[in-house]
Amino acid sequence: MSKNVLILPGDGIGPEIVAQAVRVLEQVNQTHSLNISHESALVGGAAYDETGSPLPESTLEKAKAADAILLGAVGGPKWDGLDMAVRPEKGLLGLRSNLELFANLRPAILYPQLAEASSLKPEIVAGLDILIVRELTGGIYFGQPRGIRTLENGEREGFNTYVYSESEIRRIAHSAFEAARQRNKRVCSIDKSNVLEVTVLWKEIMEEVAKEYPDVELSHMLVDNAAMQLVRAPKQFDVMVTGNMFGDILSDAAAMLTGSIGMLPSASLNAKGQGMYEPCHGSAPDIAGQGIANPLATILSVAMMLRYSFGAREVGAKEAAAAIEAAVSRVLDLGLRTSDIASEGCTTVSTQAMGDAVLAELQKS
Ligand code: NAD
Repeated sequence: MSKNVLILPGDGIGPEIVAQAVRVLEQVNQTHSLNISHESALVGGAAYDETGSPLPESTLEKAKAADAILLGAVGGPKWDGLDMAVRPEKGLLGLRSNLELFANLRPAILYPQLAEASSLKPEIVAGLDILIVRELTGGIYFGQPRGIRTLENGEREGFNTYVYSESEIRRIAHSAFEAARQRNKRVCSIDKSNVLEVTVLWKEIMEEVAKEYPDVELSHMLVDNAAMQLVRAPKQFDVMVTGNMFGDILSDAAAMLTGSIGMLPSASLNAKGQGMYEPCHGSAPDIAGQGIANPLATILSVAMMLRYSFGAREVGAKEAAAAIEAAVSRVLDLGLRTSDIASEGCTTVSTQAMGDAVLAELQKS
């Protein structure tokens, strides 16, 4: 059956990098007979300019009906003065909440060719390939009650509620174990169970779900140790799974291990296996329109889409994902770099030329 991908270029460099990713998707669709069709819609500032809403009803309907979504990025100074309710970022948040995209998958991969770009020593990070699975729609960022109140003595206090239900923990655990099955079959669950009851329950449910995945090894680590281990010996991890707040912090730290934001894809999945795939970076208004943005994070987001949304059911999708990742690696071997990852002895190329190079490598495979 035909699969439908909704393309949401968004703002700033979004359209430039998405254009290259779509070329790659079309190429593997043909070579691997994937039977994927795609259509585009407006989101973010571009949608606001056209319709007065950052997430028009027609875009939301198309997103709900799609098997997967590929998003560029939203936002930019042009829309910074708008009311919060119609800011471009609301389009992104609206998609996440309407589609219940509770599982955020953020790989931190460091191609050996880019090891010099990291702030850590090359031997610590070269070849790094870890995946952080972050719960995205619950935990302390959403728990009630929350607020700032005034006590009887006149002093104010701020308060939030860290809460996770069994079902919320169970579904993110399944996401992590399923993802580990596509990788090296190891899950490390991150908690603070020595202090927080909510993560005592988290740990207990992780153990329960692990019984359904006897082929995957489960370990546990306290979040403070995990932060330390990420910068001490990050290659010890395969999949890390954690709640919203810990995941927010750890995934940014892990992303920086790779030193190059233009290289990192991400996925946000719901219980139906629907996913939204996007680069980790924003709309980079400072370089928009110059044709110099790095399209590789968006191209690698297509590989994630093929692996996580289509890999289990569509013959050839996982192979197509691997082919894209290998093509990206070979392009780096050739010494081609966009300006964000430029280094001595390498050739600096444009967004379009980087897309051309990935396509050329794909054609060889
Ligand atoms: P940013 O990620 O857009 O840019 C940070 C820096 O990285 C900039 O110097 C930029 O030029 C560079 N950069 C980012 N992606 C690049 C790429 N592919 N190639 C080369 N260089 C790249 O973050 P910011 O400047 O803080 O935010 C800019 C806008 O993006 C804001 O409006 C923000 O709200 C929005 N934003 C959107 C998303 C999203 O859509 N998911 C995420 C973060 C920020």
